[in-house]
Amino acid sequence: MEPRSAAALGAEFPYAQRTLCYIEIAGDGAVTHGTDAGTYERARSGQSRLFAVWPGEWASHLFVIDDPDEYARAHGLLHDQERTGLTDHRHSVRWELDPSEKKPMGSYITIRGHLDCGCTIRDLGAFAKQMRDQSGWDIATAGGWGGSTSSGIYMRARRKSLTP
Ligand SMILES: [Zn+2]
Repeated sequence: MEPRSAAALGAEFPYAQRTLCYIEIAGDGAVTHGTDAGTYERARSGQSRLFAVWPGEWASHLFVIDDPDEYARAHGLLHDQERTGLTDHRHSVRWELDPSEKKPMGSYITIRGHLDCGCTIRDLGAFAKQMRDQSGWDIATAGGWGGSTSSGIYMRARRKSLTP
């Protein structure tokens, strides 16, 4: 059975789906299941070839991961502007207390963020990581978030980590 191309599916391929089963074949033919921190680098450099079995309801399909960068973007190893909506730059962020917040002096508060730099948030985890690195913000990625670019994005954050 010839493996299908994951790259041909673009963003449709579920690189980060838990049920996906990765198979790595090293240059010497050694086969390992699953991935580790070095998988991307080995696949990118050609030291190994990476495959994935995508289980379906009736049949599973074998794919070759022929674009390791897509794999890395989906796993947050490479910044992905398309998936996250976020440019890899220093964001210009304003925030205000969300109108729903009843305990404005709590350790975690719900805020409404406005990104004046023109970014949108499609991946709160990626935004939280950037804001932690840039400004020390501690955004609760397990909490609910949402909203729109026009009204602001609401999210939970540790109050004392927020800069004005
Ligand atoms: Zn930005």
